[in-house]
Amino acid sequence: MKTLYKFLLAPGPTPLPEEVRLEGAREITHHKHPVAKKMFRKVTDDMKWLLGTKYDSYLLASSGSGAMETAVQNLVNTGDKVIVINAGNFGGRWVKINKAYGANVIEIKKDWGDMATPAELEAVIKENPDTVAVFCQLSETSTGACSDTAGFAKIVSKTNAILVVDGVSGIGVVPLKMDEWNVDVVVGGSQKGMMLPPGMAFICMNEKAWKLVENNKQHKFYFDLKLFQKKLVDNETPWTPPIGIIYQADKAFEMMKAEGLENVWARSTKLAKGIRTAMKAMNLELFAKCPGDAVTTVKIPDGVDGKKVTSVIRDKYGITIAGGQGDFSGKIFRLGHMGYMDMYSELACLAALELTLKELGHKFEIGSGVSAFMKEMAQE
Ligand SMILES: *Cc1c(COP(=O)(O)O)cnc(C)c1O
Repeated sequence: MKTLYKFLLAPGPTPLPEEVRLEGAREITHHKHPVAKKMFRKVTDDMKWLLGTKYDSYLLASSGSGAMETAVQNLVNTGDKVIVINAGNFGGRWVKINKAYGANVIEIKKDWGDMATPAELEAVIKENPDTVAVFCQLSETSTGACSDTAGFAKIVSKTNAILVVDGVSGIGVVPLKMDEWNVDVVVGGSQKGMMLPPGMAFICMNEKAWKLVENNKQHKFYFDLKLFQKKLVDNETPWTPPIGIIYQADKAFEMMKAEGLENVWARSTKLAKGIRTAMKAMNLELFAKCPGDAVTTVKIPDGVDGKKVTSVIRDKYGITIAGGQGDFSGKIFRLGHMGYMDMYSELACLAALELTLKELGHKFEIGSGVSAFMKEMAQE
Protein backbone atom coordinates (compact mmCIF):
# COMPACT_ATOMS: atom_id res chain seq x y z
CA MET A 1 0.00 0.00 0.00
CA LYS A 2 1.37 3.40 -0.96
CA THR A 3 1.81 5.91 1.86
CA LEU A 4 1.02 9.54 1.10
CA TYR A 5 2.34 11.58 3.99
CA LYS A 6 5.95 12.49 4.62
CA PHE A 7 7.41 13.09 8.06
CA LEU A 8 10.76 14.46 9.06
CA LEU A 9 11.81 12.97 12.40
CA ALA A 10 15.56 13.31 12.18
CA PRO A 11 17.36 15.14 14.99
CA GLY A 12 17.63 18.21 12.77
CA PRO A 13 16.69 19.79 10.50
CA THR A 14 13.16 19.43 11.83
CA PRO A 15 9.68 20.05 10.37
CA LEU A 16 8.14 23.52 10.37
CA PRO A 17 4.60 24.48 11.36
CA GLU A 18 2.53 25.73 8.45
CA GLU A 19 2.35 29.19 10.07
CA VAL A 20 6.16 29.41 10.08
CA ARG A 21 6.44 28.11 6.51
CA LEU A 22 3.99 30.73 5.27
CA GLU A 23 5.94 33.48 6.99
CA GLY A 24 8.85 32.44 4.77
CA ALA A 25 6.83 33.43 1.70
CA ARG A 26 6.85 37.11 2.74
CA GLU A 27 8.41 39.79 0.63
CA ILE A 28 11.94 40.64 1.75
CA THR A 29 12.15 43.89 3.70
CA HIS A 30 15.48 45.69 3.52
CA HIS A 31 17.34 44.96 6.73
CA LYS A 32 17.82 48.66 7.51
CA HIS A 33 14.15 49.47 7.00
CA PRO A 34 12.65 50.63 10.32
CA VAL A 35 10.15 47.77 10.24
CA ALA A 36 12.91 45.18 9.82
CA LYS A 37 14.98 46.76 12.59
CA LYS A 38 12.01 46.66 14.92
CA MET A 39 11.48 43.01 14.10
CA PHE A 40 15.18 42.32 14.67
CA ARG A 41 14.94 43.86 18.14
CA LYS A 42 11.77 41.92 18.95
CA VAL A 43 13.31 38.57 18.01
CA THR A 44 16.55 39.43 19.85
CA ASP A 45 14.45 40.13 22.95
CA ASP A 46 12.51 36.89 22.52
CA MET A 47 15.84 35.06 22.58
CA LYS A 48 16.23 36.27 26.18
CA TRP A 49 12.98 34.55 27.05
CA LEU A 50 14.05 31.34 25.35
CA LEU A 51 17.49 31.16 26.98
CA GLY A 52 16.45 32.48 30.39
CA THR A 53 18.83 35.43 30.36
CA LYS A 54 18.99 39.20 30.51
CA TYR A 55 21.86 39.25 27.98
CA ASP A 56 21.53 39.96 24.27
CA SER A 57 21.95 37.21 21.72
CA TYR A 58 23.86 37.98 18.52
CA LEU A 59 22.13 36.54 15.48
CA LEU A 60 24.48 35.14 12.85
CA ALA A 61 23.88 34.10 9.24
CA SER A 62 25.36 30.62 9.51
CA SER A 63 24.55 27.11 10.67
CA GLY A 64 25.08 26.09 14.30
CA SER A 65 28.73 25.21 13.75
CA GLY A 66 29.34 28.85 12.77
CA ALA A 67 28.19 29.91 16.25
CA MET A 68 30.49 27.27 17.77
CA GLU A 69 33.41 28.71 15.82
CA THR A 70 32.37 32.24 16.83
CA ALA A 71 32.61 31.23 20.48
CA VAL A 72 36.10 29.76 20.19
CA GLN A 73 37.44 32.48 17.91
CA ASN A 74 36.26 35.31 20.19
CA LEU A 75 36.97 33.73 23.58
CA VAL A 76 40.07 31.54 23.30
CA ASN A 77 43.60 32.81 22.63
CA THR A 78 46.29 30.62 21.09
CA GLY A 79 47.88 28.60 23.89
CA ASP A 80 44.92 28.97 26.29
CA LYS A 81 44.02 25.89 28.27
CA VAL A 82 40.47 24.67 27.67
CA ILE A 83 38.56 21.60 28.86
CA VAL A 84 36.20 19.87 26.43
CA ILE A 85 33.65 17.27 27.48
CA ASN A 86 33.89 14.96 24.51
CA ALA A 87 31.27 12.22 24.51
CA GLY A 88 30.27 12.19 20.85
CA ASN A 89 30.43 13.83 17.46
CA PHE A 90 29.63 17.34 18.71
CA GLY A 91 31.96 17.21 21.70
CA GLY A 92 34.53 16.14 19.10
CA ARG A 93 33.66 19.23 17.09
CA TRP A 94 34.51 21.47 20.07
CA VAL A 95 37.90 19.72 20.21
CA LYS A 96 38.56 20.27 16.50
CA ILE A 97 37.58 23.95 16.54
CA ASN A 98 39.65 24.66 19.65
CA LYS A 99 42.66 22.92 18.11
CA ALA A 100 42.19 24.90 14.91
CA TYR A 101 42.62 28.07 16.98
CA GLY A 102 45.70 26.77 18.80
CA ALA A 103 44.15 26.05 22.19
CA ASN A 104 45.74 23.62 24.63
CA VAL A 105 42.86 21.14 24.80
CA ILE A 106 42.27 18.88 27.80
CA GLU A 107 39.64 16.31 26.84
CA ILE A 108 37.30 14.56 29.21
CA LYS A 109 36.70 11.76 26.78
CA LYS A 110 33.81 9.35 27.25
CA ASP A 111 32.59 6.42 25.18
CA TRP A 112 29.73 7.33 22.86
CA GLY A 113 26.45 6.80 24.72
CA ASP A 114 28.04 7.75 28.02
CA MET A 115 28.42 11.29 29.46
CA ALA A 116 30.83 12.97 31.88
CA THR A 117 29.49 13.91 35.32
CA PRO A 118 29.95 17.23 37.15
CA ALA A 119 32.17 15.36 39.67
CA GLU A 120 34.52 14.26 36.87
CA LEU A 121 34.66 17.81 35.56
CA GLU A 122 35.38 19.11 39.06
CA ALA A 123 38.37 16.77 39.41
CA VAL A 124 39.84 17.83 36.05
CA ILE A 125 39.36 21.54 36.79
CA LYS A 126 41.11 21.11 40.15
CA GLU A 127 44.12 19.63 38.36
CA ASN A 128 44.03 22.47 35.82
CA PRO A 129 43.37 25.68 37.73
CA ASP A 130 44.62 27.76 34.76
CA THR A 131 41.69 26.61 32.58
CA VAL A 132 40.16 29.49 30.63
CA ALA A 133 37.01 27.82 29.30
CA VAL A 134 35.01 24.59 29.54
CA PHE A 135 32.97 23.38 26.56
CA CYS A 136 29.97 21.01 26.67
CA GLN A 137 26.71 20.09 24.93
CA LEU A 138 23.24 20.68 26.32
CA SER A 139 22.29 17.58 24.33
CA GLU A 140 24.86 15.39 22.52
CA THR A 141 22.86 14.72 19.37
CA SER A 142 25.07 11.91 18.07
CA THR A 143 24.39 9.66 21.08
CA GLY A 144 21.22 11.03 22.69
CA ALA A 145 22.87 10.94 26.12
CA CYS A 146 21.56 13.29 28.79
CA SER A 147 23.92 16.01 29.98
CA ASP A 148 23.90 17.72 33.38
CA THR A 149 24.56 21.24 32.14
CA ALA A 150 23.29 22.82 35.36
CA GLY A 151 25.72 20.61 37.29
CA PHE A 152 28.64 21.59 35.03
CA ALA A 153 27.75 25.27 35.48
CA LYS A 154 27.74 24.93 39.26
CA ILE A 155 31.34 23.69 39.16
CA VAL A 156 32.67 26.11 36.54
CA SER A 157 31.04 29.21 38.06
CA LYS A 158 33.15 28.75 41.19
CA THR A 159 36.34 29.12 39.11
CA ASN A 160 37.82 31.79 36.83
CA ALA A 161 36.87 29.71 33.78
CA ILE A 162 33.74 30.22 31.70
CA LEU A 163 31.27 27.53 30.62
CA VAL A 164 30.38 27.46 26.93
CA VAL A 165 27.29 25.40 26.12
CA ASP A 166 26.45 24.09 22.64
CA GLY A 167 22.68 24.15 22.84
CA VAL A 168 22.03 23.55 19.13
CA SER A 169 19.84 20.49 19.62
CA GLY A 170 18.67 21.18 23.18
CA ILE A 171 17.36 24.75 23.10
CA GLY A 172 13.57 24.79 23.02
CA VAL A 173 13.58 21.06 23.78
CA VAL A 174 15.11 20.46 27.20
CA PRO A 175 15.43 22.94 30.08
CA LEU A 176 18.11 25.62 29.89
CA LYS A 177 18.19 28.53 32.35
CA MET A 178 21.26 30.49 31.41
CA ASP A 179 21.35 33.12 34.17
CA GLU A 180 19.87 31.00 36.96
CA TRP A 181 22.36 28.19 36.28
CA ASN A 182 25.33 30.58 35.77
CA VAL A 183 26.03 29.47 32.21
CA ASP A 184 28.39 32.02 30.64
CA VAL A 185 27.98 31.37 26.92
CA VAL A 186 25.24 29.66 24.92
CA VAL A 187 25.38 28.95 21.19
CA GLY A 188 22.53 27.60 19.11
CA GLY A 189 21.11 27.22 15.63
CA SER A 190 17.71 27.68 14.05
CA GLN A 191 16.95 24.26 12.59
CA LYS A 192 16.45 21.94 15.56
CA GLY A 193 14.23 22.88 18.49
CA MET A 194 13.16 26.31 17.29
CA MET A 195 10.77 25.25 14.49
CA LEU A 196 12.82 27.22 11.94
CA PRO A 197 14.67 26.41 8.73
CA PRO A 198 18.47 26.09 8.76
CA GLY A 199 20.55 29.23 8.23
CA MET A 200 20.49 31.25 11.43
CA ALA A 201 22.68 30.74 14.48
CA PHE A 202 23.22 32.76 17.63
CA ILE A 203 25.57 33.34 20.52
CA CYS A 204 24.71 34.80 23.91
CA MET A 205 27.29 35.75 26.57
CA ASN A 206 27.37 37.21 30.06
CA GLU A 207 29.85 39.78 31.44
CA LYS A 208 32.38 37.16 32.56
CA ALA A 209 32.64 35.94 28.97
CA TRP A 210 32.66 39.44 27.45
CA LYS A 211 35.83 40.16 29.43
CA LEU A 212 37.56 37.40 27.50
CA VAL A 213 36.31 38.86 24.23
CA GLU A 214 37.86 42.21 25.19
CA ASN A 215 41.26 40.54 25.68
CA ASN A 216 41.09 38.23 22.68
CA LYS A 217 43.83 38.41 20.08
CA GLN A 218 42.75 35.88 17.45
CA HIS A 219 42.57 37.01 13.82
CA LYS A 220 38.93 37.43 12.94
CA PHE A 221 36.58 39.18 10.56
CA TYR A 222 33.10 37.82 9.75
CA PHE A 223 32.39 36.51 13.25
CA ASP A 224 34.03 39.40 15.17
CA LEU A 225 31.62 39.85 18.10
CA LYS A 226 32.80 43.37 18.86
CA LEU A 227 31.43 44.43 15.48
CA PHE A 228 28.13 42.72 16.26
CA GLN A 229 28.00 44.45 19.64
CA LYS A 230 28.51 47.88 18.08
CA LYS A 231 25.84 47.32 15.46
CA LEU A 232 23.23 45.94 17.84
CA VAL A 233 22.92 49.37 19.48
CA ASP A 234 21.09 50.39 16.27
CA ASN A 235 19.37 46.99 15.90
CA GLU A 236 21.65 46.15 13.01
CA THR A 237 24.25 43.52 12.15
CA PRO A 238 27.65 44.04 10.47
CA TRP A 239 26.52 41.88 7.53
CA THR A 240 23.15 41.12 5.96
CA PRO A 241 21.15 39.08 8.50
CA PRO A 242 18.91 36.14 7.51
CA ILE A 243 15.87 38.44 7.30
CA GLY A 244 13.45 35.73 6.18
CA ILE A 245 14.32 33.47 9.12
CA ILE A 246 14.00 36.39 11.53
CA TYR A 247 10.40 36.95 10.43
CA GLN A 248 9.77 33.22 10.74
CA ALA A 249 11.34 33.29 14.22
CA ASP A 250 8.83 35.93 15.30
CA LYS A 251 6.03 33.53 14.36
CA ALA A 252 7.72 30.55 16.01
CA PHE A 253 8.18 32.57 19.23
CA GLU A 254 4.51 33.55 19.15
CA MET A 255 3.61 29.84 19.04
CA MET A 256 6.10 28.82 21.74
CA LYS A 257 4.94 31.62 24.04
CA ALA A 258 1.31 30.61 23.58
CA GLU A 259 2.23 27.07 24.63
CA GLY A 260 4.57 28.17 27.43
CA LEU A 261 8.23 27.20 27.68
CA GLU A 262 7.69 24.72 30.51
CA ASN A 263 4.98 23.04 28.44
CA VAL A 264 7.24 22.91 25.38
CA TRP A 265 9.88 21.10 27.48
CA ALA A 266 7.22 18.82 29.01
CA ARG A 267 6.00 17.87 25.52
CA SER A 268 9.48 16.59 24.52
CA THR A 269 9.80 14.76 27.83
CA LYS A 270 6.50 13.00 27.34
CA LEU A 271 7.13 12.06 23.72
CA ALA A 272 10.65 10.82 24.47
CA LYS A 273 9.38 8.72 27.36
CA GLY A 274 6.69 7.23 25.12
CA ILE A 275 9.22 6.40 22.42
CA ARG A 276 11.64 4.79 24.91
CA THR A 277 8.83 2.60 26.25
CA ALA A 278 7.83 1.68 22.70
CA MET A 279 11.41 0.70 21.76
CA LYS A 280 11.63 -1.67 24.72
CA ALA A 281 8.23 -3.18 23.87
CA MET A 282 9.56 -3.83 20.35
CA ASN A 283 12.55 -5.82 21.69
CA LEU A 284 14.94 -3.01 20.95
CA GLU A 285 17.72 -1.71 23.16
CA LEU A 286 18.43 1.96 23.83
CA PHE A 287 21.98 3.13 23.03
CA ALA A 288 22.53 5.91 25.57
CA LYS A 289 23.26 4.91 29.16
CA CYS A 290 21.21 7.83 30.41
CA PRO A 291 18.91 8.85 27.55
CA GLY A 292 18.06 12.54 27.15
CA ASP A 293 14.71 13.82 25.91
CA ALA A 294 15.84 15.53 22.69
CA VAL A 295 16.97 12.48 20.71
CA THR A 296 16.39 8.77 21.23
CA THR A 297 19.15 6.50 19.98
CA VAL A 298 18.46 2.83 19.47
CA LYS A 299 20.77 -0.11 18.76
CA ILE A 300 20.17 -1.92 15.48
CA PRO A 301 19.07 -5.43 16.55
CA ASP A 302 21.16 -8.49 15.62
CA GLY A 303 20.50 -9.82 12.14
CA VAL A 304 19.10 -6.52 10.80
CA ASP A 305 21.01 -4.53 8.18
CA GLY A 306 21.38 -1.15 9.92
CA LYS A 307 21.83 0.90 6.77
CA LYS A 308 18.55 -0.47 5.41
CA VAL A 309 16.49 0.71 8.39
CA THR A 310 16.85 4.38 7.46
CA SER A 311 16.49 3.81 3.71
CA VAL A 312 13.45 1.48 3.84
CA ILE A 313 11.54 3.69 6.28
CA ARG A 314 12.32 6.69 4.07
CA ASP A 315 11.71 5.23 0.62
CA LYS A 316 8.75 3.01 1.45
CA TYR A 317 7.03 4.95 4.23
CA GLY A 318 8.10 8.57 3.70
CA ILE A 319 9.66 8.92 7.16
CA THR A 320 13.10 10.46 7.52
CA ILE A 321 15.02 9.37 10.62
CA ALA A 322 18.80 9.41 11.11
CA GLY A 323 21.39 6.68 11.29
CA GLY A 324 24.49 6.69 13.47
CA GLN A 325 27.41 9.06 12.92
CA GLY A 326 31.09 8.12 12.77
CA ASP A 327 31.89 4.61 14.04
CA PHE A 328 28.21 4.04 14.80
CA SER A 329 27.03 4.32 11.21
CA GLY A 330 24.85 1.25 10.56
CA LYS A 331 24.85 0.34 14.27
CA ILE A 332 22.24 2.71 15.70
CA PHE A 333 19.34 4.82 14.49
CA ARG A 334 18.23 8.15 15.94
CA LEU A 335 14.78 9.67 16.39
CA GLY A 336 14.44 13.38 17.13
CA HIS A 337 11.82 14.80 19.49
CA MET A 338 12.64 18.43 18.87
CA GLY A 339 10.63 21.35 17.61
CA TYR A 340 7.28 20.95 15.92
CA MET A 341 6.47 17.43 17.02
CA ASP A 342 3.56 15.85 18.79
CA MET A 343 1.92 12.52 19.50
CA TYR A 344 0.76 12.10 15.89
CA SER A 345 4.19 12.50 14.32
CA GLU A 346 5.68 9.99 16.77
CA LEU A 347 2.85 7.52 16.14
CA ALA A 348 3.39 7.69 12.39
CA CYS A 349 7.08 7.10 12.94
CA LEU A 350 6.47 4.14 15.23
CA ALA A 351 3.99 2.52 12.84
CA ALA A 352 6.43 2.83 9.94
CA LEU A 353 9.33 1.64 12.07
CA GLU A 354 7.40 -1.47 13.03
CA LEU A 355 6.69 -2.33 9.38
CA THR A 356 10.29 -1.58 8.40
CA LEU A 357 11.83 -3.75 11.12
CA LYS A 358 9.38 -6.58 10.39
CA GLU A 359 10.43 -6.52 6.74
CA LEU A 360 14.11 -6.54 7.74
CA GLY A 361 13.68 -9.63 9.91
CA HIS A 362 13.55 -8.31 13.48
CA LYS A 363 11.48 -10.50 15.81
CA PHE A 364 8.77 -8.71 17.78
CA GLU A 365 5.00 -8.47 17.85
CA ILE A 366 3.58 -6.01 15.35
CA GLY A 367 1.65 -3.26 17.13
CA SER A 368 3.61 -3.64 20.36
CA GLY A 369 5.46 -0.33 19.97
CA VAL A 370 2.36 1.67 19.02
CA SER A 371 0.42 0.08 21.86
CA ALA A 372 3.11 0.78 24.45
CA PHE A 373 3.37 4.38 23.23
CA MET A 374 -0.40 4.88 23.52
CA LYS A 375 -0.41 3.47 27.06
CA GLU A 376 2.29 5.98 27.95
CA MET A 377 0.24 8.81 26.39
CA ALA A 378 -2.75 7.79 28.50
CA GLN A 379 -0.76 8.38 31.71
CA GLU A 380 -1.22 11.80 33.24
C1 LIG B 1 23.26 19.94 14.72
C2 LIG B 1 24.23 20.25 15.79
C3 LIG B 1 25.32 21.11 15.59
C4 LIG B 1 25.75 21.68 14.28
O1 LIG B 1 24.83 22.26 13.58
P1 LIG B 1 25.00 22.72 12.05
O2 LIG B 1 23.84 23.62 12.01
O3 LIG B 1 24.85 21.49 11.22
O4 LIG B 1 26.27 23.39 11.88
C5 LIG B 1 26.11 21.40 16.67
N1 LIG B 1 25.90 20.87 17.87
C6 LIG B 1 24.87 20.03 18.10
C7 LIG B 1 24.70 19.47 19.46
C8 LIG B 1 24.01 19.69 17.07
O5 LIG B 1 23.00 18.84 17.30
